[in-house]
Amino acid sequence: MSAIDVELTCPEGNETFKLNAQEVLNRIIIKCPKCDCYLSEEELKEVKIAIRYMMRVH
Ligand SMILES: [Zn+2]
Repeated sequence: MSAIDVELTCPEGNETFKLNAQEVLNRIIIKCPKCDCYLSEEELKEVKIAIRYMMRVH
């Protein structure tokens, strides 16, 4: 399977950062590399659902 990057939006600012999709699925927490803000549990859950859907489609 080829690597897929997902773009995430920082919960505090408007900056975006990219992470490998598989890595996101393996994480229980994700934080912005710029300001160290954590993504909310709810948001991370939604991102993971989107990734799993994306991977099925590919
Ligand atoms: Zn940030």
